[in-house]
Amino acid sequence: MFDYLIVGAGFAGSVLAERLASKAGKKVLIIDQRNHIGGNAYDYYNKEGILIHKYGPHIFHTNSREVFDYLGQFTPWRPYEHRVLASVDGQLVPIPINQNTINKLYGLNLSSQEVETFFNSRAENIARVQTSEDVVVNKVGRELYEKFFRGYTRKMWDLDPSELDASVTARVPTRTNKDDRYFTDTYQAMPLYGYSRMFQNMLAHPNIKIMLNTDYKEIIDVIPYKYMIYTGPVDSYFNYCYGKLPYRSIEFKFETVDDEFFQPTGTVNYPNDQAYTRITDFKYLTGQKHHKTSIVYEYPKAEGDPYYPVPRPENAELYKKYQQLANAMTNTYFVGRLATYKYYNMDQVVAQSLTLFKKLMQNHPETQLNGHKIPLLQS
Ligand code: FAD
Ligand code: UDP
Repeated sequence: MFDYLIVGAGFAGSVLAERLASKAGKKVLIIDQRNHIGGNAYDYYNKEGILIHKYGPHIFHTNSREVFDYLGQFTPWRPYEHRVLASVDGQLVPIPINQNTINKLYGLNLSSQEVETFFNSRAENIARVQTSEDVVVNKVGRELYEKFFRGYTRKMWDLDPSELDASVTARVPTRTNKDDRYFTDTYQAMPLYGYSRMFQNMLAHPNIKIMLNTDYKEIIDVIPYKYMIYTGPVDSYFNYCYGKLPYRSIEFKFETVDDEFFQPTGTVNYPNDQAYTRITDFKYLTGQKHHKTSIVYEYPKAEGDPYYPVPRPENAELYKKYQQLANAMTNTYFVGRLATYKYYNMDQVVAQSLTLFKKLMQNHPETQLNGHKIPLLQS
């Protein structure tokens, strides 16, 4: 009898498997329908020997010391600050929009203060910022919104920014200084030997059994367990009883080129002219030395593996109905990006899972080792 059946071996499932096994002495079966662990963060060496991310570029960043230290138990880190250029008006300029972006785009030489005045003079004052259009137009005005955000967002979501929650484009800030990093989090680093190696280390515990290539529905009636932790799409768990929740998918097209680097930075965004949204050159992310490099093009689409929840009011309403069903379950817990329908980064999923672990320890005190309270980070 397993104490926990965990569906999904991505961040959400693997963090819980690791905690429950190593900190609470629980017997865990973690199962995934794919042929590998790591969920969407899975990486591997392609036939040219270059480390690539199968489900698109994954850059780790967090402000949480707890999350960074927790994962640090399973991997050494390689410091990496991601930088992105956008292809706009025939030039490559930094995104998030900053002082250099404005100066390069318009052939100006504005100071930081002057850039602020520039934004203020163009910003449309929107009383209630609600949509992804509002957020940008309210900060930098319509022209920059159209150059950098409208086309990209339409491609990515097949929706106009005015139909999406403000939180989507709010992920990308606007700056008046020259800081050209994509993220400003305190901790920005990549697992030195890749994500998959980190996941292997997390799951290498005698109390954890791994079953791949298996949908949980195939084994649920034959393998006994006490509790389930579910990290797949929440609507699928409930057989779409209220209808399908929209998830956005992406087709990834990989190429290997004979040059050491394909482009001048980790990612180049294409807001306007191409069918793809961005190209990522993996060797910037991984720090690998190799005379060739591998790149990935991202083509957003509606059908396919569910990758992104779509943040807009009607979807939040529909999710709430599923959430009520999920909350009513007594021995099944829902966690992660697909199961809680949240546009979460990796670190947020880790934090959510660590929180659930603490809650499980309170709900089921019999699962605590020797009846003692378990300090979270003690190894
Ligand atoms: P997942 O990784 O999706 O894991 C869920 C697992 O459940 C999957 O492996 C799936 O196969 C399995 N599963 C589902 N249904 C079943 C079933 N019926 N039976 C068995 N198994 C099942 N985050 C960042 O922090 N930085 C980034 O740069 C970044 N870039 C991203 C780029 C892309 C293109 C995408 C799609 C996401 C990106 N993310 C990034 C987000 C990151 O991928 C997620 O936050 C994280 O991987 C979510 O982990 P999870 O465990 O919740 O879900
Ligand atoms: N976005 C945009 N132009 C850009 C970058 C981002 O319009 O050059 C918008 C777009 O809607 C995108 C969202 O901001 O989906 C969030 O961008 P992020 O880079 O965080 O997307 P992710 O890495 O999660 O795909």
